[in-house]
Amino acid sequence: MSISARSNSLLFSRMKDVAGALASVLFPASCRICEQLLTDASRLPVCERCLSSFTAIPPGSCDLCGLPGTFDPEFPKAVSYCRDCQQRRFAFELARSYGIYEGVLVRAILLLKYEHIEPLGNWFAGRLAEIVAKQPDRLAADAVVPVPLHRQRARERGFNQVDLFGRTLARCLRLPYRPVLLMRTRPRPEKHLLRLDERWESVRGAFALREGGRVDNLRILLLDDVMTTGATLDACSRALREAGAKSVLGLTIARAGRPLSSFAEHP
Ligand SMILES: [Zn+2]
Ligand SMILES: [Zn+2]
Repeated sequence: MSISARSNSLLFSRMKDVAGALASVLFPASCRICEQLLTDASRLPVCERCLSSFTAIPPGSCDLCGLPGTFDPEFPKAVSYCRDCQQRRFAFELARSYGIYEGVLVRAILLLKYEHIEPLGNWFAGRLAEIVAKQPDRLAADAVVPVPLHRQRARERGFNQVDLFGRTLARCLRLPYRPVLLMRTRPRPEKHLLRLDERWESVRGAFALREGGRVDNLRILLLDDVMTTGATLDACSRALREAGAKSVLGLTIARAGRPLSSFAEHP
């Protein structure tokens, strides 16, 4: 970049800061979660207090699927895989998440999902990039792929919430982002109408690679907003592996803390 281009972009970013600060004085906004008045000039409509109240995944999670509460961190060598992973249930190689799906994080994900708040997506992308940076070898990938919506749902919503953090994350990791590689061939039934065990049935075979999509020998970083049973990540991973992907690594913003072993009777 030339010096004048750099100083122009610097000037532009300063102007943006000033404009943001001015806007926050003239039109004070409040946090979309706790309604506290926002004091800084960022475009993020969630306050610092809410952002810092998300519950991190605690130590002692399953080494494979990331399920919290799998082993006692005081005795980490005892069992490091949850019951499901001991039975080799999942088609992904491992899965990690940023936080526990509860409280304020649930509300933040709803904002992302239904209100298309891009700055919040960027913020989450930053947190997920930190997770990858902590385990660079185990989370090394060649391409980033979002769990797709069925086209009917995509039409209704107008966007896939995973793209809101996926694109930025891929850019941070300097990896290609492949949002049209996978497709959902069967619409998703309303999750709240399903028992947890029925979710496995509802997603089995529900994903396929688009015609011409190639993943030969690639390590795929598969993204979703929430991991609950792992059934969705598993179904996508199977489709990718069958198409020749070398491995699939799951990464989600949140992880439902419910123990998988309570419904481990599934094949
Ligand atoms: Zn707040
Ligand atoms: Zn596990």
